[in-house]
Amino acid sequence: MGLGFYMPTRVIMDEECVKRNKAAFAVGRKALIVTGKSSAKENGALADVVEVLGRNGASYAVFDKVMTNPTVECAYEGAEAAMEEEADFIVAIGGGSPMDAAKAIALLAVNDIEKKDLLAGRTGTTALPMIHIPTTAGTGSEVTPYSVLTNHEKQTKTSISAPCLFPSYALLDPKYLRSLSEKTTVNTAIDSLSHSVEGMMSARSNVMADVIAREAIRIISGLFPKLAHGGLDDGDRAKLLYASMLGGTVISQTKTTAVHAMGYSLTYFKNIDHGRANGLLLGEFTEYTEKFAPDRIKDILSCMGMSETEEFKNVLSSILGEKESFAVEELDMYADIASQAGGTKNSFHCPERDEILEIYKKSLL
Ligand code: NAP
Ligand code: ZN
Repeated sequence: MGLGFYMPTRVIMDEECVKRNKAAFAVGRKALIVTGKSSAKENGALADVVEVLGRNGASYAVFDKVMTNPTVECAYEGAEAAMEEEADFIVAIGGGSPMDAAKAIALLAVNDIEKKDLLAGRTGTTALPMIHIPTTAGTGSEVTPYSVLTNHEKQTKTSISAPCLFPSYALLDPKYLRSLSEKTTVNTAIDSLSHSVEGMMSARSNVMADVIAREAIRIISGLFPKLAHGGLDDGDRAKLLYASMLGGTVISQTKTTAVHAMGYSLTYFKNIDHGRANGLLLGEFTEYTEKFAPDRIKDILSCMGMSETEEFKNVLSSILGEKESFAVEELDMYADIASQAGGTKNSFHCPERDEILEIYKKSLL
């Protein structure tokens, strides 16, 4: 049995864990707080961080220009801010978008990397220390070494990956999730389900990642009825945040697969939320993989108390509701893009271009 596992982020999950762990923030004199437009101001996370920094005698500046699906340019702008402010550590607050942007900012603030080199994966080995505070329960970015950036030149997303992009701390307080809309709660939950299911369909899957993935899939599937019909309470949100971190830990080892690679076009061209994009494709890709790895899929389904892939597809449809409309020509172009993507090649069984198109058609038409 072969195994390699490396996830160096310290995870603390607790009520008020930001305010209770000021030692986590004692890594520098001045923080650049990287966040989105408004949610961190409204859900209390920014105020909690500011209070802790004050108790540590650290100063801060706020970079709140991170958009959903952050661009490479946004990362460079944030790095410029970090350098101007002479920040020596980064605090990321938000969903995957601010957390991902923060990683690229932490990297670019201390490395002179040209855009083309960054996007080609020449990332360097150092970054400013980072503390990540997730306020959505989906991406698990707080425990991954990936920064996923919108790459307009390639009309898709490019994932930057380096060990130095693992945050030093991930501080998980479910109270920040209360303000999430139902739509974002559902879409992000499906993203984290996708991470764990894809982890088990990855060419890099391993026994330890599988153990973690099974736990996450069990937790999220236990909430399928509430994700479809509403009624999530604080306890459920805590479970989703925990499962999201587990899913991030899984993909930190296994990476994602064709599902994410294919989903990027749905986000780029149709503005479909990241998690929803994956959810729309996950059922059909699971069925595709079943032909080559039936025992793997049986394992995944059994975590959800299911025996048929059809049942999984039906549950996903009931949670995601009516699909957006697509033309065959659009899907044809998406298939070209996804067939070139690294994530596709990372699948346990890598689909050919025509198979990718077929999965798109079955999923979306
Ligand atoms: P997001 O783009 O970070 O946030 C979506 C929306 O939710 C934003 O409008 C945000 O508002 C709002 N929001 C965040 N927290 C909130 C809260 N507690 N209450 C109310 N509103 C809140 O969405 P996401 O799905 O978490 O992240 C998606 C990104 O993560 C994509 O770019 C995807 O590619 C990436 N991703 C990365 C990894 C990885 O391993 N690095 C894995 C999966 C996905 P504000 O803008 O005002 O904050
Ligand atoms: Zn994802």
